[in-house]
Amino acid sequence: MEKILIVGCQNTMDNVCIACSRCMVAFNRREGAFSRYKDQDAELIGILNCGGCPGVSVVTRLAQMACWNEKNGEKATKIHIAACILDHCPEKETIIEKIKAKTAIEVIEGAHEYKPEGLFA
Ligand code: SF4
Repeated sequence: MEKILIVGCQNTMDNVCIACSRCMVAFNRREGAFSRYKDQDAELIGILNCGGCPGVSVVTRLAQMACWNEKNGEKATKIHIAACILDHCPEKETIIEKIKAKTAIEVIEGAHEYKPEGLFA
């Protein structure tokens, strides 16, 4: 069973991509970067924000999340970096490298791939 943790941009999650619903819908439908789980058992166990610019607390937040779930026996097996980081964050390379170095969990760059075609389309 794959246990999926999504990491996104705090600014975007709070102010733009309200409720992170596109990531959740894409996961439920196994679309976008989640199509890799189409024929697999997989659960979403969290959507974590980076902690705010410049992303220095992301590792602490990952550790805290691991701590909360320790007694439940839940541990992420894959970390997906969402488009809000990949497309906009000037610190994305540092953030991704830190996550890889500190968690030893496979990191996949991508989550939902839904793009708005136009505000008034
Ligand atoms: S560090 Fe990057 S991902 Fe985090 S809030 Fe700032 S722009 Fe967003």
